[in-house]
Amino acid sequence: MAIGWEKEMRDALGDERLFLDITTREKLSKDYFWYSPVLDRQLKDKIADGIVVPADEDDVEFTLSFAHRHRVPVTVRGSGTGNYGQAVPLQGGLVMDVSRMDRILELGDGFARVQCGVRLGVLEKKAREQGQELRIYPSTFMKATVGGFVCGGSGGIGSITWGNLWDGNVLEAVIYTMEEKPRRLVVRGPELFNYIHNYGTTGIVTELTIPLAPRQEWMQTIVHFDGFEQALLFSESLAKDDSVRKRLVCSVEWPIPSYFKPLAKVLETGAAAVLLETVDGTLGAITALAAAFQGRVGHVIPAVSYRKAIGLSDFSWNHTTLWGLSTDPEITYLQAGFSPESYLEQVRSIKAKFGNEVLLHFEWVRSGGKITPSSLPIVKYTTEDRLYEIISYFESAGVKIYDPHTWVLDNGGRGEVGAMQRKKRENDPRGLLNPGKIH
Ligand SMILES: Cc1cc2nc3c(=O)[nH]c(=O)nc-3n(C[C@H](O)[C@H](O)[C@H](O)COP(=O)(O)OP(=O)(O)OC[C@H]3O[C@@H](n4cnc5c(N)ncnc54)[C@H](O)[C@@H]3O)c2cc1C
Repeated sequence: MAIGWEKEMRDALGDERLFLDITTREKLSKDYFWYSPVLDRQLKDKIADGIVVPADEDDVEFTLSFAHRHRVPVTVRGSGTGNYGQAVPLQGGLVMDVSRMDRILELGDGFARVQCGVRLGVLEKKAREQGQELRIYPSTFMKATVGGFVCGGSGGIGSITWGNLWDGNVLEAVIYTMEEKPRRLVVRGPELFNYIHNYGTTGIVTELTIPLAPRQEWMQTIVHFDGFEQALLFSESLAKDDSVRKRLVCSVEWPIPSYFKPLAKVLETGAAAVLLETVDGTLGAITALAAAFQGRVGHVIPAVSYRKAIGLSDFSWNHTTLWGLSTDPEITYLQAGFSPESYLEQVRSIKAKFGNEVLLHFEWVRSGGKITPSSLPIVKYTTEDRLYEIISYFESAGVKIYDPHTWVLDNGGRGEVGAMQRKKRENDPRGLLNPGKIH
């Protein structure tokens, strides 16, 4: 670390906002990259030179101007629950922990305006107290921040109705640029695409406005099927049925349910399971539809018990991998977009080729308006070569892979990043914002 800037920064910010001790630096230089054995090997020793904890936008502005002058990299961190080392400082420098910028600024009719460090779980609770709720949130919502979700996530619970982050689920963002005199930008509309899922490379988001939905009462149901295909067909049919309001439609092949220890008493051994969050009063419709696909309703958690204990969404999305890892530390995962038209053929082909080396679960989402089977397949990890053989096979079967074993935005399959690269050059001419994450 450059001797000199440390003292100057400490003099300016004080001991409460700058941490240089090894314990804090180690702790706040990591995220959940260890889900990937590939990333774990490459990232476990990366560490920041200092941790800055801004209290407000003035601190953010000061830090960026200071870092620009001294050519110090800055990597933002919300709660550090990202999976691809997004919040890991590859080239040292400062990690900016925004968790103290956690004020809900406005809860209006149909929207929330918040500081970036507000936890999604806190916002959901406050919104529900006022008759509203989040539209979409990741399964890590109790810890994850609004800024971290917008800048590092994609979708989650609620996406079956409201789509992903790119589907109108961010209304406005306040951005600071990395320049000698950082600019404060207020961004809306298509320009937001330069900042959604940007890993903090094109600017630091200090404030966000996101849409809220009217509060609903959610019941949770587990439906069992003898075969995974029936579970998928049922899920597709329910996902497309607009008369049943829903937050979660997650289909899981056996033996994944055997990983869900807290649900052991209510899951049928050997059966595929569908985990549902649907609006109260829909049990009749679910029971009838399940029967049409030879399924049976198992455990039901009534709406009055919502959030009073562990919920079914705690087993969905990438929490599925977490439960898997607690049983078998040798697994890892992929992020896959199956074809809405031919996903069953793709599933058959993958299962025929890999058997239980690849285990599938699907979270149905409405992506760009279309009901889509998105999946985070669990993979038994042996070698990196084998992992990429499996990825190649998925791709040859027409399944889109968003590679979770890379920290580079362009390699993760998020599509065209040309506009984001241009925006980075404009907002961060010295390339100091989370360097190494975008080419
Ligand atoms: C068990 C598990 C389940 C998960 N499930 C989901 C899921 O359902 N859906 C999903 O989308 N993701 C999921 N994730 C990934 C992750 O939890 C979410 O994306 C979460 O929203 C990240 O929030 P965070 O506050 O922890 O962000 P962090 O990990 O701290 O940051 C994420 C990225 O955003 C950047 N960033 C953070 N704050 C800002 C800011 N203010 N300005 C600019 N850049 C910023 C960081 O630099 C980093 O690159 C899961 C992860 C785990 C471990």
